[in-house]
Amino acid sequence: MRIPIVAGNWKMNTTIESAVGLVQEMKGELDKIPGIEKVLCPPFVSLSTVGNLIKGTSIELGAQNMYFEMEGAYTGEISPPMLKNLCQYIIIGHSERRIFFGETNEMVNKKLKAALKIGLIPILCVGENLKEKEAGKTEAVITNQVSAAMQEIASLQKTVIAYEPLWAIGSGKAASATQANTVLNLIRNIITKLYDEQTAQSIRLQYGGSVNSNNIGEFVEMPDIDGVLVGGASLKAAEFLSIVEQTSKIKQAK
Ligand code: PEP
Repeated sequence: MRIPIVAGNWKMNTTIESAVGLVQEMKGELDKIPGIEKVLCPPFVSLSTVGNLIKGTSIELGAQNMYFEMEGAYTGEISPPMLKNLCQYIIIGHSERRIFFGETNEMVNKKLKAALKIGLIPILCVGENLKEKEAGKTEAVITNQVSAAMQEIASLQKTVIAYEPLWAIGSGKAASATQANTVLNLIRNIITKLYDEQTAQSIRLQYGGSVNSNNIGEFVEMPDIDGVLVGGASLKAAEFLSIVEQTSKIKQAK
């Protein structure tokens, strides 16, 4: 039995003040939604404040990125030990990191190792771009990204994997539920090959890319979709609450 998980990636949005407002707006209702993990991923500067606001609730906290070294002369970077007592989750390899900040598969692998070593739960993001999709390379790209990220990792522990096709992120053009489920099923098969059947059946997989309160139902009806990673819609309290509520209801009915 996989516990559904919905995470909100606020990206480089909100100030500390508006982050407080957003949490206050949804905290009470979000806390009450049963049978599902709810993770908020605000910018670094708001982690501590948001963490204090959700203390004692069922809501969890995640960071959007971190460096792989444990400490040292890396001006501007955030280390795994800095996050360890601040949050539970860490988004790794988001496509915006890969595109705008030059994150390679090798760096993603190092970050994944660092997260597991320090005891943070990774949400590993993978996805193909439009050109790759149109060239029929989705399977090859995903297989390569997942295998490269997991190089020399003996146990995935509680790692979550999010399939986020680049063409669907922030575009308003979500993948179809069938497309998303097909790729997530492929990822389960890759995990079986790299690890074993039990790991593949217990690992939680998310879809991400233009998810909103209107299309969430189709995704979480799918057998291989255990939840979603939400960008834009996670900045609107009512939208995010509706996404989490619908996911909870649909998954509980299964
Ligand atoms: C994301 O960037 O993780 C994402 C899914 O964004 P959006 O929901 O805005 O497409």
